[in-house]
Amino acid sequence: MLNDNVPAGSQILPFYLADGSSDAALIRGRMASVGMAASTIIARHNYPDLVGRLQAEALALAACLSSTLKFDGVFTLQAKGDGLVRTLFADITQAGHLRGYCALDEDQSQLAAIQLAQPNDDAVQIVPLMGGGYIAFTVDDDATGGRYQGIVELDGPHLSDAAMRWFENSEQTDTMVLCAADTGPSGWQASALMLQRIATEGGEAVSAAGAKAASDDAWHTAKTLLSSVTRAELLDSALTPEEIIFRLFNSMAPHVAPARAVTDQCRCDVQKVESMLTQLSVDDVNDLADADGALHITCEFCKTERVFNKNDLPAFQS
Ligand SMILES: [Zn+2]
Repeated sequence: MLNDNVPAGSQILPFYLADGSSDAALIRGRMASVGMAASTIIARHNYPDLVGRLQAEALALAACLSSTLKFDGVFTLQAKGDGLVRTLFADITQAGHLRGYCALDEDQSQLAAIQLAQPNDDAVQIVPLMGGGYIAFTVDDDATGGRYQGIVELDGPHLSDAAMRWFENSEQTDTMVLCAADTGPSGWQASALMLQRIATEGGEAVSAAGAKAASDDAWHTAKTLLSSVTRAELLDSALTPEEIIFRLFNSMAPHVAPARAVTDQCRCDVQKVESMLTQLSVDDVNDLADADGALHITCEFCKTERVFNKNDLPAFQS
């Protein structure tokens, strides 16, 4: 197969679908399969199982959504809630460098009840876990310095539903996306599978009407086929994304493009932390420093700890 060179658990696979009678692309698709990156990202944190599942879904969804947008920079999915999970974060660069973290409320007394109420055979229900809040989808484009953000309310049932509402609001493009994540003997599996209808071209009235009908039919068929995919299929480590696409959309002449690799890679570095520290007030630095004047700064994404001495900071030198 075309994409044997990219591991099945760390890729974004672009594809398109036709109506079976011709090769004209009617539907654009993406499948992100990021279990390998999710496994090492989540292993650095000590999340309850259900929070790990939510994080894995967010990583897959961010990878999937990012690949539909044209930008040279960073795509971020960030949800803020007032429930057990206060912050859910996943971001990915155009080069496929993925990272994420969750921040939890100190009060976890409701955790057992929430975990018990979650179906094991479906995507995570976000409202019981996160409460009320919002989800922001942000593109930071390094080339233009521009920032484009869409915000939707944090209501579920699933993370993928929030993504579909964002597409409805921002692009007015018919979009359907599903997420699945779970942990097993070989680590995390985390997948997001997305379809987007390609706008039909204008033109002569009669052929435009024909094209519209073909597009309507194809969209309906593709949605039905996507709805038929099982969670077990999406999470089957023995199936590559390419195999899933061909199995699922066999009747719609699927065409796959080269897969893009996704890797667990943070963007923190010592200079960034130093420049953050130099902007703090003397009081803030003293609050952070231990009795010996050492500042232990841990990256919340990758958990790398860096140690500084406050006397090396400009504010403490005279
Ligand atoms: Zn880091």
